[in-house]
Amino acid sequence: MADRVSCGALRAGDDGRTVQLCGWVNRRRDHGGLIFVDLRDHEGVTQIVFDPQHPSFAHAEHLRHEDVLQVRGAVRRRPAGTENLRLQTGDIEVEIGELEILNRSQVPPFQVNADETVDENLRLEYRYLDLRRPRMQRNLRIRHQIIKAMRDFFDSREFLEIETPMMIKSTPEGARDYLVPSRLYPGTFYALPQSPQLLKQILMIAGFGRYMQIARCMRDEDPRADRLVEFVQLDVELSFCTQEDVLETMESCMRYVWREVLDVELPPFPRLTHREALARYGLDKPDLRFGLELADVGANFSGTEFGVFRSAIEAGGAVVALRYPGGAALSRRDFDALTETAKQFGAKGMVWIALAADGNKSPAAKFLTEVQIEGVRTALGAQTGDALLLFADATSLAYAVAGKMRNEVGERCKLRDPNTYAFAWVTDFPYLEIDEETGRPMPAHHPFSAPAPGDWGLIDRDPMAMRAQHYDMVLNGYELGSGSIRIHKPQEQRRIFEMLGLTPQEVDERFGFFMRALEYGAPPHGGMALGVDRIVMIACGEENVREVTAFPKNQAGRDVMMDAPSPVPNELLRDLHLRIVNP
Ligand code: ASP
Repeated sequence: MADRVSCGALRAGDDGRTVQLCGWVNRRRDHGGLIFVDLRDHEGVTQIVFDPQHPSFAHAEHLRHEDVLQVRGAVRRRPAGTENLRLQTGDIEVEIGELEILNRSQVPPFQVNADETVDENLRLEYRYLDLRRPRMQRNLRIRHQIIKAMRDFFDSREFLEIETPMMIKSTPEGARDYLVPSRLYPGTFYALPQSPQLLKQILMIAGFGRYMQIARCMRDEDPRADRLVEFVQLDVELSFCTQEDVLETMESCMRYVWREVLDVELPPFPRLTHREALARYGLDKPDLRFGLELADVGANFSGTEFGVFRSAIEAGGAVVALRYPGGAALSRRDFDALTETAKQFGAKGMVWIALAADGNKSPAAKFLTEVQIEGVRTALGAQTGDALLLFADATSLAYAVAGKMRNEVGERCKLRDPNTYAFAWVTDFPYLEIDEETGRPMPAHHPFSAPAPGDWGLIDRDPMAMRAQHYDMVLNGYELGSGSIRIHKPQEQRRIFEMLGLTPQEVDERFGFFMRALEYGAPPHGGMALGVDRIVMIACGEENVREVTAFPKNQAGRDVMMDAPSPVPNELLRDLHLRIVNP
């Protein structure tokens, strides 16, 4: 009897066993009369040898890549000197006994057996072939392990996983909703959830003290490398909790996941307030794998004749400086290219100073005194051989540009090691921020977050100064997710809606069901959601969430394998009371 084994299982000690394997033809080689077929499955690759005397030899001659085989044969050690050290099964081979060709494959549009770069749309169109590649098999396996570890962790803490519906009422959470037209109720729509936010809060009101869900969420936004329109969140909510309880829970979960899946012990996550994060790193999702802290060096240039700095300082702005380790060795062209990058980030320009061994060099040299340069050098802890990059603008813009340039410099100086995991908490976010599109104040998180204790008093006087009990978890410069302590008193929730300019009628139409629930003894509660796709992406060392998602939409938001979105028959539209008006 032959034992069924995977293509990754056999070792030298299996010599002499008779086994059965199933898989795909990864490669076929004709060699000195023998034919070698590498058979591949999700576990690995095993070499099958066909001798010209064997009746299957004639079939083996016609095998093609990705044909599906079942083979039986005897395991034997490879002749000394022909072992393949790169394969786990490289000490052995299987001498063909019986061959069954289970299915044939067309010639694949790209090589499945090599990690060559293939156009992403072609990969997505033939995703089933792409997913056969070891890297994608590995990524989806890590994804499974991460999600399992999350569930195990929350189960051990007695959280319940409760599913929430996919078709709900449109309750916008900052992005555009995907809508589902109703057949039974003409002219009305369900919305797909941007997150289960209100439902998980209602579960707290319903007395489930600890909720979690691996939740699918949909937001009709433009896709990006680190964002999909359809994504998965680890969604969590707790009753009778403090902010500290939520942070401890989520941090312990991530520590558990990293230990179980990556065998990495994470240190306690450093904490920064939002204000500190901006002042030191320019961004609210700082990459803490490296230092290179920013410095506001405006005071250093008070009274300067240099127009670029003077106008920024006089307008109440800032001059923000960044150190480029070893940057003195860059050429003028390199600095020009860096300046272009800064402009793409919104800067008006960039002033650079190279601290070369033979003296300081800068295109702005004639406007800068040695004392001023020395002041910047000291503020940044820079040394000879480094360069200083300066950004003068309105304070928030100067910091934002310097923060993005800090990541750019970190990248160029190879300070962003993908195998280092720098988690952190950012806390004390402002309640409101100015929406880039509308120019209007909007909640930095969502309108269900509670203001910081003691900040309610600012709501009439200076709402922009109000802080929220809102926190973000960041990892290697990515925001993994946000959460907050929620408002649980109906009158306070009304007050926030009022501040945001919603009339009582609008509140009633959009959130009436939720306001009513708050009236029936809502407990204090809070929670958080983390982006599972992003977490898996970083754990896999990938730079694109599509690499860790089985069937993602492409960069243009299309499913190119199924060809969606696509037109539907007119009857279906009629059933839904819809008519297409061509733009
Ligand atoms: N629902 C929020 C989000 O998706 C997370 C939370 O506040 O729990 O960002």
